[in-house]
Amino acid sequence: MKLPIYLDYHATTPVDPRVVEAMVPYFAERFGNASSRTHKFGWDAAEAVDRARGEVARLIGARAREVIFTSGATESNNLAIKGTAAALRDRGDHVITVVTEHHAVLDTCRRLEREGVRVTYLPVGRDGLIDLDQVREAMTDRTILISVMAANNEIGVLQPIGEIGRIARARGVVFHTDAAQATGKIPFDVEALQADLVSLTAHKLYGPKGVGALFIRPRTPKLPILPMFDGGSQEHGLRPGTLNVPGIVGFGRACAICQDEMEQDAARLGALRDRLLAGLLDRVEGIAVNGSLAERLPQNLNVSVEGVEGEALLMGLGDIAVSAGAACASGAAEPSYVLKALGVSDDLALASLRFGLGRFTTDEEVDYVIDRLATVVPRLRQTVDSWAGARSYRPARSTTGMS
Ligand SMILES: *Cc1c(COP(=O)(O)O)cnc(C)c1O
Repeated sequence: MKLPIYLDYHATTPVDPRVVEAMVPYFAERFGNASSRTHKFGWDAAEAVDRARGEVARLIGARAREVIFTSGATESNNLAIKGTAAALRDRGDHVITVVTEHHAVLDTCRRLEREGVRVTYLPVGRDGLIDLDQVREAMTDRTILISVMAANNEIGVLQPIGEIGRIARARGVVFHTDAAQATGKIPFDVEALQADLVSLTAHKLYGPKGVGALFIRPRTPKLPILPMFDGGSQEHGLRPGTLNVPGIVGFGRACAICQDEMEQDAARLGALRDRLLAGLLDRVEGIAVNGSLAERLPQNLNVSVEGVEGEALLMGLGDIAVSAGAACASGAAEPSYVLKALGVSDDLALASLRFGLGRFTTDEEVDYVIDRLATVVPRLRQTVDSWAGARSYRPARSTTGMS
């Protein structure tokens, strides 16, 4: 077994070697600009982009012409939310989202607020899920957009986006979902979900960093979106700029592999995740699962460890790469806003571990992680004991917390 062990697949995934192989020719040999219409160099690149567009579309049950390429889910979220708000300004000025969204959605909404848009941030329950009645109640005649993520990047919970899609559709409201963590991991179909706008990114599904996509439903009247950049007619003028051909080719290949292997990967990783949880509950006292276990990505586990200090815990894990929260937030010793939204205390939120299992995770690695935590946690508690005396840790019964 090779150390260190990578269990942070929600932050990013390694690029699958088959994806690398597909990309390589498009750096030097087939370097053409996909917009060059007058020679073979351009045609080759355009053909590769077309193929990739089909592969990305197929993964989400869409048609190729409904997908535009971007630099990743951050850009797709910005384009979806700002683009819709700008285009529908005279129809309304109210957006609904959720407190546990990724910063790429939350910060975008904050900016809209500074420009006079009203934003409702729906709360979540202990299980991390929103209440559909609260979605219905939040809607007004001025509501133009609902943005709710498919799978959470910290706790892996799956929001009821199919139902939200139906609620939005019934009221003629645009429905956007940030599906960066869901696509490639679990089945995702834009028709079944009635999603109008879907954000994807390649580097969470074994593709390269810096490339993503936005699905845009063709509606009548046409779904209006204003571009964020000016400069050309690429991607229907919604995302001008020379296409990142090698990245797009890799993204397409990565989607095709996920399409073929998702079912078996998810089954294997779900069983492995359950083994990790069972091992931790069995061998480490004071473990609590954060968020719904039932409504969750099979690849995710997020637990709090009672009676230890967060940073010491991460340090103690040594050669196991996990995080305490989202990658963009780690480093700062701040409790995760997602866990806080679930009602988890600051201390427990800081002493939380996000495990993201992925295509290259093995049984042996998971067993190593269980062993390591079973060794390290009691040791850390002794340290806390000797420092804090009276505040010493007394194990409560282990719980799985949520359903
Ligand atoms: C990773 C992630 C993003 C950001 O995607 P980039 O392609 O890195 O910009 C957005 N939303 C969610 C849920 C993510 O997990």
